[in-house]
Amino acid sequence: MNYDINQIKKLADAVYDDAVAFRRRLHMNPELSEYEEKTAAAICEKLDSLGIEYQSGIAGHGISAVIYGSNREHGVGIRADMDALPLTEKAEIPFKSQNPGVMHACGHDIHTAVLLGTAEVLCQMKDKLPGSVRLFFQPSEETIGGAKQMIDAGCLSNPKIDSVIGLHVDTNIDAGSIELIPGPMNAASTEFTVTVTGKSCHGAHPTDGIDALLPACAMVTGLQSVITRRTDPAEAVLITVGTFESGTKENIISGEASFSGIIRSLQMHNMAPVKEHIEALCMATAQAYGATCKVEFTDSYPTLENDDTLLGWVMDAGKLVLGEDHVSINKKPSLGADDFAYFCHSSRGIYYNIGARRPGEEHAYAIHSDCFNPDEECIRTGILTETAAVLKILEEESKTW
Ligand SMILES: [Zn+2]
Ligand SMILES: [Zn+2]
Repeated sequence: MNYDINQIKKLADAVYDDAVAFRRRLHMNPELSEYEEKTAAAICEKLDSLGIEYQSGIAGHGISAVIYGSNREHGVGIRADMDALPLTEKAEIPFKSQNPGVMHACGHDIHTAVLLGTAEVLCQMKDKLPGSVRLFFQPSEETIGGAKQMIDAGCLSNPKIDSVIGLHVDTNIDAGSIELIPGPMNAASTEFTVTVTGKSCHGAHPTDGIDALLPACAMVTGLQSVITRRTDPAEAVLITVGTFESGTKENIISGEASFSGIIRSLQMHNMAPVKEHIEALCMATAQAYGATCKVEFTDSYPTLENDDTLLGWVMDAGKLVLGEDHVSINKKPSLGADDFAYFCHSSRGIYYNIGARRPGEEHAYAIHSDCFNPDEECIRTGILTETAAVLKILEEESKTW
């Protein structure tokens, strides 16, 4: 190890106030997925001031920057997402959102501020970097998966990036601590829409038509049998129907019904058979009721799977900068989805949660709440752990270059 932990801590402390100010600037000016124009401009401004090379306008408003170390062919990546959510902020804070109906309720303002703070620290430790560091400022995490587009645009080459790290704020954990989840951490997801067609008629004379609503209801309840009877109970699969539309008046038999939902699983191998079972169940149900039906699927993010080797290295690095008691393993994955998953499938990845709850706070609002108000101390936790993780990964990987 050719770097000093106290140096990392001092540098992190020195950039902390600026990082908090930058986060507040983003928090006051949140932008929705695919519209992160001002956010990107603010990031470019900061990268310019640090003298970091970058390319902007990738996958919409994405930015790919690089800090060169002694080896310019190989490096490690760090990713931060930058988009906000369609929510009106209710938290009463001095830097409340100034953009009505839009709010940084998933902490992506914090992720961006942490990455810039980490970049500033690493710039001052360039002589300690055996390889280069790629910084991904990634748009559209909440919608279309900007991560995939940045990867498709070639952001994992030149320098060649074999490992990518990323983090997410979590108000279930105290600020100052991090949690890592081995193996599958987030689910793969596929959206589906089912459209049932019958023939409308007077409600008093059902035999004159074909009810579409009744078979659609049978499908919604029947779909849960795919989970309990068609998939391995030891594995995690979830089918959620979130919308249902049918009918125009109480005395008209509805000629059309449609509903939509999402399949989620922690195992990629469940996705194809579950889609087949859903389609078979819906088609057979429609036929049994004399109706017809169309089932459409749109695959979304793959599973987010943490790499075991990287997990070990990031745990070691985290313990050095935070202390043994502030780094823990959580064995419970989430069936939520995150497009960091694409980095795990295109390179190897490690995604970890940083505590954002004020120590002693009884009820801290979770992400996607309009009252979400994380402890900004998590920014220091993020800078410390990203910096230490990058140094550890470069130290280990450079042995093989
Ligand atoms: Zn989110
Ligand atoms: Zn998020």
